[in-house]
Amino acid sequence: MNAAKPAVTPMMAQYLEIKDSHPDALLFYRMGDFYEMFFDDAVAAAEALDIALTKRGKHDGNEIPMCGVPHHAAEGYFLTLIRKGFRVAVCEQMESPAEAKKRGYKAVVRREVVRLVTPGTLTEDSLLDARRHNFLAAFAQVRDEAALAWADISTGALHVMSLPQVRLGAELARLAPSEILVAEGSEADLAETVSDMGVSMTPVSRGSFDSTAAGKRVAALFGTQDLDAFGSFTRSETGALGAIVDYLEITQKGKLPLLRPPVKEITGGTMQIDAATRRNLELTHSLSGGRSGTLLSTMDRTVTSAGARLLERRLSSPSLSLDTIHNRQAAVTFNVENAHMARDLRDLLRKVPDLDRALSRLSLDRGGPRDMAAIRNGLAQAADICGLMGSVELPALLTDALQNLRGHDTLLDLLDQALIADPPLLARDGGFIAPGYHEELDESRSLRDEGRGVIAGLQAQYSELTGIQSLKIKHNNVLGYFVETTAKHADAMMSAPLSETFIHRQTTANQVRFTTVELSELETKILNAGGNALEIEKRLFSSLREEILKASAKVSGAARALAELDLQAALADLAAAENWNLPQVNDSRDFEINAGRHPVVEAALRQQSGAPFVANDCDLSGGDDASIWLLTGPNMAGKSTFLRQNALIALLAQMGSYVPAESAKIGIVSQLFSRVGASDDLARGRSTFMVEMVETAAILNQSDDRAMVILDEIGRGTATYDGLSIAWATLEYLHEVNQCRALFATHYHEMTALAGKLKGVDNATVSVKEFDGEVIFLHEVKRGAADRSYGVQVAQLAGLPPAVINRARDVLDMLEKNEREGGSQKAIIDDLPLFAAAPEPMQAQKSGPSPVDERLDEIIPDELTPREALNLLYELKGLA
Ligand code: ADP
Repeated sequence: MNAAKPAVTPMMAQYLEIKDSHPDALLFYRMGDFYEMFFDDAVAAAEALDIALTKRGKHDGNEIPMCGVPHHAAEGYFLTLIRKGFRVAVCEQMESPAEAKKRGYKAVVRREVVRLVTPGTLTEDSLLDARRHNFLAAFAQVRDEAALAWADISTGALHVMSLPQVRLGAELARLAPSEILVAEGSEADLAETVSDMGVSMTPVSRGSFDSTAAGKRVAALFGTQDLDAFGSFTRSETGALGAIVDYLEITQKGKLPLLRPPVKEITGGTMQIDAATRRNLELTHSLSGGRSGTLLSTMDRTVTSAGARLLERRLSSPSLSLDTIHNRQAAVTFNVENAHMARDLRDLLRKVPDLDRALSRLSLDRGGPRDMAAIRNGLAQAADICGLMGSVELPALLTDALQNLRGHDTLLDLLDQALIADPPLLARDGGFIAPGYHEELDESRSLRDEGRGVIAGLQAQYSELTGIQSLKIKHNNVLGYFVETTAKHADAMMSAPLSETFIHRQTTANQVRFTTVELSELETKILNAGGNALEIEKRLFSSLREEILKASAKVSGAARALAELDLQAALADLAAAENWNLPQVNDSRDFEINAGRHPVVEAALRQQSGAPFVANDCDLSGGDDASIWLLTGPNMAGKSTFLRQNALIALLAQMGSYVPAESAKIGIVSQLFSRVGASDDLARGRSTFMVEMVETAAILNQSDDRAMVILDEIGRGTATYDGLSIAWATLEYLHEVNQCRALFATHYHEMTALAGKLKGVDNATVSVKEFDGEVIFLHEVKRGAADRSYGVQVAQLAGLPPAVINRARDVLDMLEKNEREGGSQKAIIDDLPLFAAAPEPMQAQKSGPSPVDERLDEIIPDELTPREALNLLYELKGLA
């Protein structure tokens, strides 16, 4: 042995070996009731979790940093670490210390990593948002083709689509996965797209994406010869699916979740909505990040988690298929027209637990009796729903759903008989199998319980025998059952004749403890019976789990049907409560909205001020009429709201929902684009104007005549004439080349002249009333151009000092007068009298140099480094 190298303890040797195979993850090393972390892992985890960093022993002469968390609280810590970008390898003890000892005096308990916890592979309810999906995605590239696959292991969904890299950002925006797998070496290329979408990127080996191996791997998972059984997949599609399956095998250590066979999605099947548009319309995530204030949260009336997830999916992917849309509409209409039944249906659905997630946990062997009860309860509700709706004539979508709720009687009966009403979370301690289900279990339990009864009797008997009223029979883990008296009775108990029955075990400060032969025998009996009962329950748990998994395809079919029923009834409930109506969706190029509203703004107004929302019409049907509206009007008049509400109405119509309008006629919209001029995007290090132009370019290059485009103040991000010219040319291009339906809001009044020149462009304006020099917003959109911009009035509303407002009025009057009289703008600017009416505070400041002035005097700009300049700016800000 090398004398210079200090010996490593056997446990540390084991730790280092396991850590070696998991270099990228924090290793949670199980020691008794704790997970311990060592070395760098400990330092990182202690900081991320804000827990104490301690030391334990030495390694190579240095102290080993260590920290730990109790195992029962570990889930919460996993979540914190994952949110901070870590991955966790969970290393468990695979045998008890007693078992290890049998192998040798110094043997270390055998340990193995049983799971890697990563953002895309969570299944625990406590770590997941019940109403949102948790997708794991994989992006595969094979020469000139590429594909994206995604799975939600907590529900078993598995999908794939061919997807060129340029469309990756848009798809990530639609699906919002929490983790994406990419082939090692392609990280740099994909980093920007992926991080823009807030997705955590995990590079995996290229072999994982290899299509030949991947095909075999996926086919094996579903027990088929090859993947053809599920349709034809390109090489990159197969590779992406294979990478997901491989990663699940690695992270779940061989225990694969229940995935449904892969569903191939066609890129052209859903309305194309890019990332910027999604952000802008705040469909499922608000600009500030959360769920509140989004269209999703405003319209969500589902009563189950699976229904809420389905709503999010539909809202993220409006359909292009008229059949699909009409089928969904028929289902909502049925619920609207049969409101009583729909209400009863929703009452039944309220008691439906999350079947998908329960099933997934059971398949990963992470489930417990409560998950089984969830399946039982869900199937029981399904049976009741069949009872409610079974004899009515239903539209196709609902007929299909009901069909999937039938035929679960065998499993339902089994679970009904086997489980108690409210079983515990974990199988570990037993107590979940119903009495009467298993004879031997019942016997063991009654032996165990009788034993407990006998002990109670024994206490009375001993009390009488000894004459000690306070004598008790108690139990603890060290002594088992024992007789206890206070210390003052010790002498009597320890001398004849009592000492013949009571054998002394222990003396504490105040108590003396004894056992008796009878008590020991009883204890053994109780222990055996209890142990036996637990064994039987564990066995029954396994066999029930097997029965459930055998029926898993049917159960998940029922889960999907329940979600569909929930969603359709929720949409109907929303339509009735909020006065939404059935839109006509067809194959034309119509776009005719009567009395449309913005559901989110409407809800916000109601909550904040109780003010009513002013409904507005919109007609972009083209033909003899315009297909582009150029909207002018002052700031705050409601232009953005109007633009967005029309985009949202199209989207809602195509997801199959009713819409917030009196009536609507919409020809299928294949692409939806929404841009706002000069949105702040400094975090990405691009100038706002550049972003605006990049995004506008994307629209002009991609839109076809089926697109719907809304542009809000494009060109705002640059100097007036630049901005006006760009906006002008953009509108012409949309009209001439893209020939799409569009709403274009601008504050450049000059553009209203375009309506006269271009056949398909009409002017519209949001009306305001001027009263006593103040502007009142009417929020009414009508044909025609705004007569003026009311900017000064709006500035006044915003609280600019009166002196500034008055001065601005003067300047404006003079400019307008000059324009009417045909004078040159330069001349008038030169002629403007100087700002005379400087208000008090400004004059006061002039009395002497301010601290800012003094500091500025000292500065020699040429001698500053950029960093010093920045610091100086902060300093000056502080002085001002
Ligand atoms: P703009 O884009 O013209 O600056 P916005 O669309 O942002 O104006 O609207 C400003 C505010 O006016 C909204 O936040 C909302 O409170 C109110 N508003 C807009 N449209 C309506 C409407 N149709 N009915 C009632 N209030 C509205």
